[in-house]
Parts: sequence; C-alpha cells; structure tokens
Amino acid sequence: MAQAAERPRDPAPLREPGDVGIDDVLSRLQENERACDEGWLRGVVDFAELAHRGQVRRSGKPYISHPLGVAHMLAELKFDQTSVAVGLLHDVLEDTGATKKDLAAKFGSEIADLVDGVSKIGRHEYVHSDEVQAESFRKLILASARDLRVIVVKLVDRLHNMLTLGHLEAEKRKRISRETLEIYAPLAHRLGMSRIQWLLEDLAFQHMHPHQYADLRKQLDERIKGARRTTERIAERLREALRKTDIEGEISYRVKGYYSIYRKLQQRQIDLPELYDFLAFRIITVDVKETYAALGVVHQLWHPIPGRFKDYIAMPKPNLYQSLHTTVVGRGGQPFEVQIRTRAMDLLAEEGVAAHWRYKEGQLDTDENDASIVWLRQLLEWQQETPDPRTFMSALKIDLYPDEVYVFTPKGDVLSFPRGATTLDFAYRIHTELGHHCSGARVNGRLVPLRTGLKNGDIVEITTNPNREPSRDWLNIVATPKARSKIRHWINAEQKKRAIEIGRTMLASELRRYRVSPRRIFESKEMADFIAAEGYSGVDELFSRLGFGRGSVKPVLRAVLPPERLRHRDEEPGRLRRAVSKVMPRDQAKLIVKGEDDMLAFFAGCCSPLPGEEIIGFVTRGRGVSVHSVDCPNVQNLLYHPEREIRVEWARRNDAMFAVTLVIETRDRPGVLARVTEAIAKQGSNIRHIESHSRGAGEAAIDVVVDVRNRKHLNRLQESLENLSAVRAVKRRQGSSSASSSAPATA
Ligand code: MN
Repeated sequence: MAQAAERPRDPAPLREPGDVGIDDVLSRLQENERACDEGWLRGVVDFAELAHRGQVRRSGKPYISHPLGVAHMLAELKFDQTSVAVGLLHDVLEDTGATKKDLAAKFGSEIADLVDGVSKIGRHEYVHSDEVQAESFRKLILASARDLRVIVVKLVDRLHNMLTLGHLEAEKRKRISRETLEIYAPLAHRLGMSRIQWLLEDLAFQHMHPHQYADLRKQLDERIKGARRTTERIAERLREALRKTDIEGEISYRVKGYYSIYRKLQQRQIDLPELYDFLAFRIITVDVKETYAALGVVHQLWHPIPGRFKDYIAMPKPNLYQSLHTTVVGRGGQPFEVQIRTRAMDLLAEEGVAAHWRYKEGQLDTDENDASIVWLRQLLEWQQETPDPRTFMSALKIDLYPDEVYVFTPKGDVLSFPRGATTLDFAYRIHTELGHHCSGARVNGRLVPLRTGLKNGDIVEITTNPNREPSRDWLNIVATPKARSKIRHWINAEQKKRAIEIGRTMLASELRRYRVSPRRIFESKEMADFIAAEGYSGVDELFSRLGFGRGSVKPVLRAVLPPERLRHRDEEPGRLRRAVSKVMPRDQAKLIVKGEDDMLAFFAGCCSPLPGEEIIGFVTRGRGVSVHSVDCPNVQNLLYHPEREIRVEWARRNDAMFAVTLVIETRDRPGVLARVTEAIAKQGSNIRHIESHSRGAGEAAIDVVVDVRNRKHLNRLQESLENLSAVRAVKRRQGSSSASSSAPATA
C-alpha cells in the first residue's frame, strides 16, 4: 500500500463554486473514464440552454449556470453520462415550457422518467413540524423516486443551491437550510453518501446559525493547530506499530463535520474544550482480517474506553455502513476515536450509492472481500436479477418501501399508510367521526369515491355527508387496523342498540299477555333482584341478551311475575300459541310489523311464504327477526337454537272478517231460510255456507257459516236473527269450522 497520508479536513470555507461550462463537464467524465458521447451531451446542453433562455439566477447569472454546475458535480462524483444529462435537464419541466413528452422524443424515455422524478420531488411542499413528519417526508421522497439516480441528482441539485444560497434573503435562506437539515442531509445519510451529507449539514448550519458557525470554526481551527504535534505523534506511533506487525494500513485523520460537532456539544451540554472526539483517526486495511488485527494493535498501544467499541463490520448500520470503531485514551489522558475499515468499506462510507458506479467500472478491487460489497448486493437484490451487465443501471430502480404509501393532508402533513389503503382509511386516520360520515374524497383536487386507493404524494381531502354511516361493506374497503376496528366498533354498537330494542319489545309483549304493565315490571324490585342475581350490569344487558338470542324470556317471567299470575297465563294454552309479533304482507315482498309491539322483521330470503302459510321467526344478531316458512330447509338448522325462536303470525288486515259457524233453531216452515239469509245480508255479513235439516215435529236447524268483523258485529247479527218470529234460538258452534286463527278470512 502507498505511503501513509494525513489529510486533515479541508478548512477552506464552503464557497460558491466557480462557473463551469460543458467542456469542464466533458473533461470530468473523461478523467473518470466514463463512457461519453460528446455530440449527444452537447445536444442535451443546447436543449437546456434554449429552454432556460432569458431566465436568470438570483446571482444575476444566466439560469443555465445552475444545471451546468449540478452536472459538473455529478461528473466529479463519478456518476455516469445519463445522470449528468439528467442534471443538465433537471429544471426544464418545472421552469420552462418543455414537457416530458418532448424529453422522451428527444432523449428517450429513461431520461424523461428520471427528469420527471426529480421534478416531482420538488413539487412536494415540506411543511416543517416535527421529527415524525420529517421522517415521513423523507420516506415519501424515497418511495416516490423509483430510481436512486433521481435522489442523487436531487441531492446534488440541493448541494449546488446551498452553495449559492447567499444571494437569497435571510428568511428564505433559513427555510431552505432547515429543509436541507431535516430532509436532504438525512436522505444522503440513508444512502450512505456521507460526504454530501456533511457538506449539506455544514452549509445549512452556516446559514441558520452564522454566529455559532463562525465561533465554532475559529475555536476548532485553534484547537487543531494546538493539537497538531500530538496528532502527528499518535499517527506516527500507529504507523510504526502496524509496520512491526506486518499489517498494511493507510493512516489518516480528519475533523468531524462542524454541524455534527455543534450538535454533540448541544446534546452533551458541553463546550468545545471538553470535547475530545472531534478528531478521528482512520486505518484503511486491505482486507477484513487485517481490520481486526489492526484493532488489536490499537488496543495494545492505548487503553480502550469500555463500551465505546463498535463492530459495524459484523453488524452493519442500516445504511450498510461498515467499520470498526473504538475510543482509546492517549498518553495525556485525552481520548480519541479510531475507525478501522477496508478500502471498499471506506469508499462506501464516503460515497454510498455513488460508489456503485465505481464498482461497476471495475475500478474497485472486487475480490478484496465480499462482505464489504454487501451493501451493493443488497441494493441489487431489491430489484430483480439483471443478468445483462448493460442493464445494470436499471438495477438502481428502487422500491424502498414496497409496503407503504405516503400522502399529504390539505395542511401539508405527510401520513403513511399500508399499500392498498383507501381514502376511507385516510378519513379514519384524521378523525373517527370523519370516517363514520365519509362520503368520498377530493384527491389532488378531483372528486373520487371512498374506496379509491392512495398513491404516493396524493393530496387528500375528505368529503362528508351527515347521513352517511358505516356498513359491513366498509370492512372490505379499508386496509388499516384502526379504520377496521372503528367500523367494527360502530357496527357492534349499532347492533347492540337494536338488540336492546328487540329484547325490550320481546319481554314487554310477553308481559302484556300476563296482563301486567311492562314498565312497572321493568322498574320492579323483582327485576332488579333478577338482574343482580344474573350478574348483569343493568336492564339493558338483559334486553340485549334477549335481543341477541342468548337467553330466553321464561326465567325472567318466573322471576318477576307472582306465581298466581304465571298460573293464570298457563290456563290459556290457546293464547300461548299466539304470536309475539304480527307480520303483515305489503306489496309483494316487504314486511311490516304492526301494532304496539313493533319489531324489526324481514323475510330471510331463502323462502317466500305466502300470507296464510305457517311461518316461524328467529331473532338474529341485532337485525331483528328473520321470517321463514316452516317448510324452509334452513329452519331445520335454526331449530338447533330454540332460544332464538320466536312466534310470528300473519297480521290480519283491518278489513279482515272472521268466519263463524252458527246453528239456528227454527220452526220448519216455508220461507224461513229466505228470511234468515235476508237478515244476515242486512247485517253486512257474507254467507260462506248454509245448510238446513228438518228435525221432525215441525222443528228444523240451519247451520250457517258467516263472516263477521268482530264480537260486536256477531252480537248484532245474532240479535237480528233471534228477532225473527220463526227463530227459537241462535247458538255459536266453537272450533268446528274453518274459522281458525291462522287463516285470515277474506271479506
Ligand atoms: Mn435545480
């Protein structure tokens, strides 16, 4: 390995870069041995120049100086020609009349897509609020980029803008600097591009806190100068020790970034003289084995501080940074940090994703060790295998967060959702009530239905309708656990409300049949005792259990009714058969339940009983009573749940008539039958059937089946028949006719 080099960090101020032209860009590409089609690239620059013609930077320079500067930096960072071209074109979509179509037609769809990607990042407006928001925003940028080069160009664009920030007014400078610190520097960090990260941080620090920056710089420069001899002695001792143990190692030291030192001072609440690890020594070895050997050497020379050793080779950082870190105590009692890593790891540590390009060109000693390029391999594995080395670049297409999408609220907050989430999930995230009444959304200004899927970068505003409420279908629309549980909760609460009603109605109607006031019973001591004995929280729990079909009314009746009442009811077996609710046919298919005992009822749908056919009801979970024909095959299954069974019958219509059989005893003489039928007709009754028999001895009997509206009507009819001179008696015959209660008579 070449002789050891000491390269203290360049203390020159972070200055505005000088003007560069396309010739500089071309020579950088050539120096770095990048494939380069000069004529084509000049065509790109001409296009950009024409598009930006007439525009000037705040510095007064022609606008093209900015894209040229960005392209030049990309070439310097050893990026390829495509990335450089994207750097040249990165502002044409945003600031000029050029369209993505124009770019695709002229330079191909790859360039057009990349430029479009860079422009899209610029279009998301970052509203500063908190660390969570910043993280979501960073993820949004990564998630929507689709290609790492988009982010790389954006970072270099930001770096160039930061270098020329001095021309802007103070407030704008601060806003852009804060965005740089909170979004772009961490992004560079995540991609392992620490050089760009430090530059961005130090520039932003300089603009946000100019006084602290100047102060820290001055102190640090003095400190470095004062420590120079010690520093060099440490480096010399290290070099000697490595030589003696036959370890090839390149030793350097550098001052950490100003901003990272500033933050450390703030976090630890100390002043610079108390900070020792502002300097870090670095040993670059040829392979992984030697990193551990070098570590042994370091620990022989100086005492390590316990707890400060970190093995990022065995356990790489999330951005796949690899290195050994240790802090040791020097002779004078001053601690300092030593970082040990291979050349490949060092390249990755400094340039991150940019190192990829070097690797691709074979400039990296690749068989040096495999572990150090794990970062790249992982990067490649994110994408499908690309066997053709020329399509290697497409391996940079990324889907860093395949399971998440990031969208904006109208206020500019970024929210993250699982992929597949819809505008309805968004509504529930904002507020439960907003979710319950969500009728749709405005996404990027366009009205869309509530089942619309969210996409990265969407701006979502929820529209509501007070009459809208959740339904079971909604469970299929949402993808977030929160929305799902809120919808479920609402449905359960609604079901419970209904179950309570159903239960109360069931019990009340049963109690009325015992001629007791349900309300008095509900408030009785017996009821309270029963509820307490069962361990229910209150009368509503009892009702809801009955409504859900989890209990029977019988034990309740036994508990709350006096025994003599219970018996009284038992003496009327006929009435016990009566329905709890009466189902009334209306139109063809609908059911209503009439009367005081209003209950929800519906045809189950599996069968369609006709009025007059025998029917049976089952209490459902919260939806009311489902009505089936007794012959319905489903009823067989439901009969396993006798506690849910409920008696129902067809309601009689208002104009319904009841058939009654009368036996009229008369004198057997001509004309009697005619007089009887006349009298019946006069009372507005219909004769269904009439028959007369002679009984001998001048006596006869007439059996007649007539329709009557009610008892009163029957009394009137009986009276008028008895008033006929030939009639001796009129008697009602019980239970022997078709006047059964289950079949309504027709008028
Ligand atoms: Mn720009």
